[in-house]
Amino acid sequence: MKSWTCIENCGACCKFDLHERSDLADKLKKEDIDLINTMTAKDGWCKNLDRKNKKCLIYESRPHFCRVNEFSTVFKEYLKFGDKFLIDCCKQHISSNYGNKSKEMKNFRMAISEK
Ligand code: SF4
Ligand code: SF4
Repeated sequence: MKSWTCIENCGACCKFDLHERSDLADKLKKEDIDLINTMTAKDGWCKNLDRKNKKCLIYESRPHFCRVNEFSTVFKEYLKFGDKFLIDCCKQHISSNYGNKSKEMKNFRMAISEK
């Protein structure tokens, strides 16, 4: 079974559009949503992302909803499917933001040992 891991220089999940993510918005408190709104640039990307290097500039103190493997446990799909749920979420983010043939997708597939 493949194991989920986060790869460096990705940041594909650092773009928010809560209007398209009602499943996510339902899991967040009002203060989380307010924080997301202050963190989000007009184009949807988080202002804390170093876009050139695709690195979080506040990694050690990033909000709880950015801690993927912790926050994901609030989704019932996670409880049923574990790493598969996380892997599918990352693939969705990477595909929609960088494309299926992007280097980020290639690196992610390699990292989870999927050719
Ligand atoms: S999309 Fe997945 S691999 Fe990419 S930064 Fe987010 S958690 Fe990490
Ligand atoms: S705070 Fe960091 S981890 Fe969270 S969305 Fe912004 S750049 Fe990504």
